[in-house]
Amino acid sequence: MTEHILIVGGGTGGTVLANRLAEKLAPEIDSGDVQVTMVTDNEDHVYKPTFLYVPFGKKTTADARRPVRELVDRRVDITYDRVTDVDTDGQRLSLADGRPLDYDHLTLAMGVELVPDEVPGLQEGGHHFYGADGAEQLQEALAEFTEGHLVLSVIGVPHMCPAAPVEFTLMADDWLRKRGVREDVEITYTYPIQRAHGIQSVADWATDQFEERDVNVETFFNADEVDPEEKVLHTMEGNELDFDLLVGIPPHTGSDLVTDAGLGDGGWVDVDKHTLEATAADDVYAIGDVADVPTSKAGSVAHYEAGVVADRIASNARGQVPTATYEGKTVCFIEAGMDEATFIEFNFGDEPTVRPASKPVHWAKLGYNESYWLTARGLL
Ligand SMILES: Cc1cc2nc3c(=O)[nH]c(=O)nc-3n(C[C@H](O)[C@H](O)[C@H](O)COP(=O)(O)OP(=O)(O)OC[C@H]3O[C@@H](n4cnc5c(N)ncnc54)[C@H](O)[C@@H]3O)c2cc1C
Repeated sequence: MTEHILIVGGGTGGTVLANRLAEKLAPEIDSGDVQVTMVTDNEDHVYKPTFLYVPFGKKTTADARRPVRELVDRRVDITYDRVTDVDTDGQRLSLADGRPLDYDHLTLAMGVELVPDEVPGLQEGGHHFYGADGAEQLQEALAEFTEGHLVLSVIGVPHMCPAAPVEFTLMADDWLRKRGVREDVEITYTYPIQRAHGIQSVADWATDQFEERDVNVETFFNADEVDPEEKVLHTMEGNELDFDLLVGIPPHTGSDLVTDAGLGDGGWVDVDKHTLEATAADDVYAIGDVADVPTSKAGSVAHYEAGVVADRIASNARGQVPTATYEGKTVCFIEAGMDEATFIEFNFGDEPTVRPASKPVHWAKLGYNESYWLTARGLL
């Protein structure tokens, strides 16, 4: 009997997992003992880190997309459809076209949903760079922006790539300086908790950088309404902040599928942080942003988690006891301007060291972004 391995999602986690499984289980797939299927609702794979560079005209949104089929091993079947239901008792998914899909091993890698509507006025009054359309609109707004108050507000945690809002703010500072208009622009960065970033050492580093560059910082700042006419940001704490250009990182949520299947709260799958197995169902894993794991929602996390889950599923498929575990490995390049960057790396419970920013690390970040397409294919 053929053993069915299903993966939901064709982003970073789903693609790396599919390719790792194809490599590890090649003989079993070729003999028909195992079938690996990816279900994704987008024919393109989207590499979101590209969006950081779009507002500054350094990349286009087309640079962020490649057809999933080009990236995924031919041994893996791909179904382009939206999963509408997960039945963990019956080990079956429902697709939008009505077809059911049975599984023996399921991995959920659906990423996050942006929910700007949760903040009244944010859609109308704010910009962001967390999606393709938003990044393009922000590029137009920034190109025309030569004076006034630029506010970068992180609205809610968790959010993808915790470093990206800090990076955007430091890049905007440098970009405006290089255009000769920085003196006419006031910049404010706001963050919802009591420091500038969730990780203490990154918060300390960012706070120093902001001070050096004359960027205002507001912490414990939880925006709950935007007045697009008056250009005012209101907070739960009763504060107000005027802006001329607002870059508001929209609130994020997990997937309704997760909540409906009883796999976790808020759309995040409750998993064992080492095995990545769902706590509420057998033979279900979650990786990447949709998994409730105590580290950053980052592509590097999805990538390392995918390697662990591929090992575990391959062991199961061969009747062996799985031993691979995830220890929280997270790697993150942080742009400190338009041509300098730093880099952090940590495991669960570690406090990363933030080294001084340099040009070579910036080039390494750009180089990684180019070679990402090989990484996703499993070639690096
Ligand atoms: C501006 C920006 C900059 C970033 N920079 C970095 C960085 O420098 N380094 C880093 O490590 N990370 C970075 N990230 C974060 C990184 O992009 C994400 O953490 C990563 O994409 C998560 O991978 P994933 O596989 O969990 O989800 P995704 O890559 O989002 O993939 C989810 C997939 O699931 C599919 N899907 C969703 N729902 C369904 C459904 N119901 N049925 C079928 N398919 C479905 C989607 O179409 C998509 O293919 C950045 C993110 C942003 C927005």
